[in-house]
Amino acid sequence: MSTSEARDKFKSYLSQKGLRVTNQRLAIFDAAFAQKEHFTAEQLLNLARAIDDSVSRATVYRTLPIMTESALLREVDIGTGEKYYRPNAENGAPVAQVVCVDCDRIFEISAPFLDWYGNTVASKLGLTAVSQRLQVTAHCNAFRETGACARRC
Ligand SMILES: [Zn+2]
Repeated sequence: MSTSEARDKFKSYLSQKGLRVTNQRLAIFDAAFAQKEHFTAEQLLNLARAIDDSVSRATVYRTLPIMTESALLREVDIGTGEKYYRPNAENGAPVAQVVCVDCDRIFEISAPFLDWYGNTVASKLGLTAVSQRLQVTAHCNAFRETGACARRC
């Protein structure tokens, strides 16, 4: 799914929910889909405000669940108490997350074996897998090379 297709999907999902397609909501969408890395709700607020300074914190916090419910964004919880978001992979293939334990940077890698893993584990219990996730913690390259992570500040 291209960004413009995702934008259309976002608009039609808003309509389905009885919500208006506003410039503020579109600014939030555009800010989110311009990101290559994971972002928090607060980071998204600042990014969206750079596009449209009338975007409010409340609108960001109301729009994020709409974007995750519609599977446009994926929510990532790395156990730090703060949720991270990222546009969903085009093909919807499962991904594994590798999290730097020093700077909390999140790397993602396509992991098609996760479907097999979830199905195998669930079927051993006579259950039906719905989803599965894998998180690996590691030291990122920046930490290995310099003993510090630039993002940790
Ligand atoms: Zn790091």
